Amino acid sequence: MSNLNPDTPKNKLQATIIVLLIVVIGLLVGGYYLAPRFERQAPQIKLQEADTLGLAPMEIVVSDPGTGLKSVSATLSMGGAEHALATEQYAQPLKEKTFSVALDPKLAGIKEGPAVLRVVARDASLWNFFKGNETMIEKNLTIDLTPPTIELIADDRYVSFGGVGAIVYKASADTATSGVKLGTHYFPGFQGQIKGHPDYFFALFAHAYDVPADAKARLVATDKAGNKKEMALAYELKNVKYKKSTIAVPDNFLQNKVAPLLKDAAARQGSPKDIFIAVNHVLRKENEDKIAAVTSKATPVMLWNGAFTQLSNSKVEANFADSRTYTYNGEQIDTAFHLGYDLSVTKHYPIEASNSGTVAFADDLGIYGNAVILDHGLGLYTLYGHMSSIDVKVGDAVKQRQVLGKTGETGLAAGDHLHFGVYLDGVAVLPVEWWDAKWIRDNIEPKIEGKSGDAIAEAQRPKAQHKTPRKAVHKLRR
Ligand SMILES: [Zn+2]
Repeated sequence: MSNLNPDTPKNKLQATIIVLLIVVIGLLVGGYYLAPRFERQAPQIKLQEADTLGLAPMEIVVSDPGTGLKSVSATLSMGGAEHALATEQYAQPLKEKTFSVALDPKLAGIKEGPAVLRVVARDASLWNFFKGNETMIEKNLTIDLTPPTIELIADDRYVSFGGVGAIVYKASADTATSGVKLGTHYFPGFQGQIKGHPDYFFALFAHAYDVPADAKARLVATDKAGNKKEMALAYELKNVKYKKSTIAVPDNFLQNKVAPLLKDAAARQGSPKDIFIAVNHVLRKENEDKIAAVTSKATPVMLWNGAFTQLSNSKVEANFADSRTYTYNGEQIDTAFHLGYDLSVTKHYPIEASNSGTVAFADDLGIYGNAVILDHGLGLYTLYGHMSSIDVKVGDAVKQRQVLGKTGETGLAAGDHLHFGVYLDGVAVLPVEWWDAKWIRDNIEPKIEGKSGDAIAEAQRPKAQHKTPRKAVHKLRR
C-alpha cells in the first residue's frame, strides 16, 4: 500500500498541484480586484474654444473616469520662458476637475504675442510602473491684454425713469460683444443701423423701473480674450412718478377669474389668500419669465418705422409700473407692478399692431390670457393681452395697424380691455415714449439718420415733454 506513504512521488505531485491551484486562484482573485488599478485609459482634457488669452479666465475641464486624476498642471510658454498657471495634486483621486487659468499681467515676462498653453494630467492608475497614464495637450494662443476702444458718437441728455435711451458708438474691430449694462439688464448694440456709417453701433437701453434711480448705465465692449472696456453714460434721469394703489379683491373675482387660472384642482381648493398668491405671484412670475425669454432674443434689424400707435379710440385706464397692493377682507395679501397700459374701447374691439414687425408669440399666457407678442427688431417688442381671439400666428409679418385679434377678458382681467406692454431686451419699458412722435423724432431718428452728436444734442436742448396718459382710473384691471 505505497500510497499510504506520504513521501511517495504521487503524493508529492498532488501537493504541488494543490499549491499551484491555490496560487492560480489567488492570482485570479487578486487580479480581478487589482486589474482596475492598472487601467490604461488616459485622462481627458477639454479646453475652451479660443485662440486668444487675456485677463478673462480660460476654463479647462480634466476628467478620468477610471482610477481618477492624481495631478494636473497648466503652463504657458512664451519667448523661451515658462509660467506655471496651475499645479494641482490630489491625495484623493478626482473623477473630474474644472479649473480656470488666468493671466497675471504683473508676472515678469508676460507680454502680448504668441504663446503655447500646455496642460498635463496624470491619473492614479498603477500602469507604467505605478506612474499612471498621462495626457498632454498643447495649444497655440495669442496673448492679448489690450481692451477694445469705444467712442460715444451720440447719446441722450435725458432718459425717463422706466424709459429708453438710444446711443450711437464706435468700437474697435477686435470687439466681440458690446452694449449697455444697467443693474442686472444688458442691452446689446447693433452694427449696420446708422446711415453712412455701417461700422457704427446703435443701442437702445432702458433705465428700467426695477433698477434704482441712482444706478449708472455703462457702455461695455469686450474682446475675444475677455478684455473689457467700460464707459459711464451721462444722462439726466427724468423723474417719472409711478403710482401706488390698493386694490381690494372681491370674492366673485377670486371664484370666477383667479381660481380657474390654476391648472391643479387641489390648488383651487386652497384659502382665498393662497389661491390669489398662487395666481398673482407664482403664475405671474412664470408668465413674466416667459415674456422675458421671448423678448430677450433681439433680431438685429429694425423692423419698425416711426412712432408706434395707441389702439384707436382707446383710453388709458391704468399706468405703467404702478405698484399695486392687493387686499382681501382688509388684509394685505400681495403686491405687484403693473407692467403696461390698460386700454379700453368697446367689447371685442379689433386690436391693431402698434407698429410693423413679426409675430414672436401667439398663445395662452396665464394671467395675460390669450396674448400676442410682436418683435419690432433691435430688442424691441410689444405685448397684447386678454384677447378674446387671436388672428395671427408665430412667424407672420405684420404691418402697422394690422388687426391681430379682438379685445377680451381672458386671463386675470376684470372687464373687456387690452393690456398693452412694450419690452426691450426682456424688460418692460414705459410705453408712452413709443407713442410719442416727437420723442421718436428727437431721440431715435436723428441717430439712425447719422446726424452728428452735436446736432442731436441741439435738437434735444428744449426739454422734451411727454404727453402723459390720461389720469389712471383705479378699477380692477390688469
Ligand atoms: Zn394690464
